[in-house]
Amino acid sequence: MDQNFAVTQRTKLKRIPDRASYDRATAYAILDEGLIGHVGFVDGEDVYVIPMAYARQGDRLLLHGSVASRLAKRLGEGLRISVCVTLLDGMVLARSVFEHSMNYRSVVCLGSAKVIAEQGEKLEALRVLTEHLLPGRWDDARQPNAKELAATTVLALPLQEVTVKSRSGPPDDLEKDKARPHWAGVIPLQLQPGPAQPDALAADTAVPDYVTGYRRSAT
Ligand SMILES: Cc1cc2nc3c(=O)[nH]c(=O)nc-3n(C[C@H](O)[C@H](O)[C@H](O)COP(=O)(O)OP(=O)(O)OC[C@H]3O[C@@H](n4cnc5c(N)ncnc54)[C@H](O)[C@@H]3O)c2cc1C
Repeated sequence: MDQNFAVTQRTKLKRIPDRASYDRATAYAILDEGLIGHVGFVDGEDVYVIPMAYARQGDRLLLHGSVASRLAKRLGEGLRISVCVTLLDGMVLARSVFEHSMNYRSVVCLGSAKVIAEQGEKLEALRVLTEHLLPGRWDDARQPNAKELAATTVLALPLQEVTVKSRSGPPDDLEKDKARPHWAGVIPLQLQPGPAQPDALAADTAVPDYVTGYRRSAT
């Protein structure tokens, strides 16, 4: 597998291209840290962008949904989709309003998803999805039964047309603004878990280590 994704007409970044990357490892690290992908597709005359859970399994992105949902039906037809995953790392405060920005790492994946029909592959995909969101949980919960499996569509999007864009570091003020008295710098932002809240029937059940130790950020 190539270290870099091939640049296509669709994925060639024109706007601030120095923030772009096609590096596979960088893209995969972002996808592995994220939880939510925004899935864009056209249905009739309208364009929809719908948030979904996802997971990376090797060189493909897994999505799932109810067989009854419009989303799963349309995606299963193999129409072209776009999945965008964004990690927000900070608010960037410059001395001029114009130069304010955000520190972020984002990935856009383009392509067509395919339904995973084979039962063993489907179950494994659901395991990967569960473990991506909640490492350690799959073996510590009841596994899907035949009825639940039949009610779920699982889709795989090959990771072939992929772009990364990222910004990090301090604000980039114009030279003539740098002497202005306004505070400038970065407010770092991270997704942090709060204390676990047991449901009423789990009050006497030991909280698993994978719950108390739950982390998202790689740092
Ligand atoms: C948290 C966040 C906030 C942002 N806020 C703004 C904003 O308020 N205004 C604004 O103009 N832009 C904002 N951006 C940047 C925005 O995502 C686009 O990169 C930018 O608007 C240029 O879009 P374009 O379609 O003209 O880019 P082009 O350079 O024409 O894009 C070409 C291709 O590059 C890829 N691509 C584009 N953007 C991204 C990306 N962010 N990540 C990965 N791949 C990408 C896609 O495959 C696209 O088809 C923000 C980005 C992030 C992550």
